[in-house]
Amino acid sequence: MVTAKADLVMRGGKVFLGLGSGFTESVAIWGGRVIAHGSDSELEGLVGANTRLIELNGRLAAPGLNDAHQHLMSVGLGLSEVDCKTDTQLQAMLAKIKARADKAKPGEWIFGRGYDHFELDSKRHPFREELDMVAPNNPVYVKRTCGHMGVANSAALKLAKIDEDTEQPDGGHIESQNGKLTGLLQERAQELITKVLSDHTIDALAEGARAGQQHNLALGFTSVTDPGVGLRQGYDEWLGYQQLRRQGGFGLRMHLMPLAGASGWPDRAMDLGLMTGDGDEWLRVGPMKLFTDGSAGGKTAAMFDPYLGEPENRGIMIYEDQQLFDYVRDYHDRGYQVAAHAIGDRAIEQILTAYELAIGNDVETQSNRRHRIEHCGFLNADQLARMQRIGVLPAPQSIFMYEFGDLYVDVLGEDLSAKAYPFRSFLEAGLHPSASSDAPVSSTNPFQNLYSMVTRKTKRGTLLGANEALSLEEALHCYSYCGAYGSFEEDIKGTLKQGQLGDVTVFDRDLFTVEPEEILEASADLAVVGGEIMFDRQAEAA
Ligand SMILES: [Zn+2]
Repeated sequence: MVTAKADLVMRGGKVFLGLGSGFTESVAIWGGRVIAHGSDSELEGLVGANTRLIELNGRLAAPGLNDAHQHLMSVGLGLSEVDCKTDTQLQAMLAKIKARADKAKPGEWIFGRGYDHFELDSKRHPFREELDMVAPNNPVYVKRTCGHMGVANSAALKLAKIDEDTEQPDGGHIESQNGKLTGLLQERAQELITKVLSDHTIDALAEGARAGQQHNLALGFTSVTDPGVGLRQGYDEWLGYQQLRRQGGFGLRMHLMPLAGASGWPDRAMDLGLMTGDGDEWLRVGPMKLFTDGSAGGKTAAMFDPYLGEPENRGIMIYEDQQLFDYVRDYHDRGYQVAAHAIGDRAIEQILTAYELAIGNDVETQSNRRHRIEHCGFLNADQLARMQRIGVLPAPQSIFMYEFGDLYVDVLGEDLSAKAYPFRSFLEAGLHPSASSDAPVSSTNPFQNLYSMVTRKTKRGTLLGANEALSLEEALHCYSYCGAYGSFEEDIKGTLKQGQLGDVTVFDRDLFTVEPEEILEASADLAVVGGEIMFDRQAEAA
């Protein structure tokens, strides 16, 4: 009798099979799928002359990490922007922009991103004149970490035809102080800049996707959802992903949400017949994506109660109720899953009502539509119960608590902050909270995300809502199975059970036996996608 041999066997480690399924020593993959798991001796018979063997030596292997909300193309394209993410001194940040400007051709755009004015010693955004001084011959646009606002220098404002007389755009704000532009553009005012940028070629977009995928594989991700294909360049971005796929350049699996609503390309998606669930396990069509509010850190998330110290400010709503209800009803009736960005309780209320109206009384047959609320940060108990009733899934970011938790306390108070991004409540309500980064808003780093899920601590060590902490098993479950659930793919990925896709993340240590603080220092050694080793930090498969 001929016994089939495995293509890949990883053995001698701690293999996490999935929540409630326990651990084993070894896993075998053949034909892109998991064919067996068990003790080393049980799998011995699957090792043949052509089997690639990986000795785990006690390291943790887990179902492949899935970032369920990451703007991957933007991450990839952003790898060439000035990275201001860790800057704490305004002058140092300006010096970096100067260094880039000194090398640039006159007139060439310079982009930066990632600064947080609360972290800067200046405690304010840079002024346009400061950007003028370091880059006198170039248009400059530097985005804040949340991506919802940024500062343009005078050359950039001029190209965008923004001056002191420009009318305030709908859903956006052009800041002035004492009648003079500061350069700060918020929310949809940013579109005045993006409008005048020359488009990326499809090749450049495909290259951005490729760079973004490589970046993610090196962090151990095997699947990523891009929750807004078209944010910058509409349908072209879809073509960029498609081109990369056609060229055989896909390194990981992608779930792509067409940007819908007023600023998206929903009609085109419909004309092309793109429907939620179409595609294959490498490129899957996701839900129609809508935006309903801003960010809590930027004080633009729509809240019922005003921000601390700003009695007039309850955030920004992108749509009138009826407008949003109509979009959601239309997409729902056409058979699409819908995913809406909503962070504040007032925005969550609006989108929940939209989902309830679309689903109507037919909860029984419609509850598996899996409409999503992206972020779903600040909600109340009543809203959680309503999500449960109609089967709406949250796509929250624990890493926001790590990166912005202290800021949330400042702008919304301790009580709301402790209840924010409530992973345990979501999990116990059966809502399958997927884990994600929202990069480039937060870092793509999965270890900061895992750490905050299990500790509920901010990067400054503030503990916020300890009762919402998860076990590491649960956190890995959210980072794999729940992501797959959000794209209707839990039958093929999210665990290492027999028959699942051979997507595995191998960490550099056993995360289950280290102190939570040590999780922050961990890294991924291998990213295995469909049994292929796509990232190999130590060249151990060679
Ligand atoms: Zn996002």
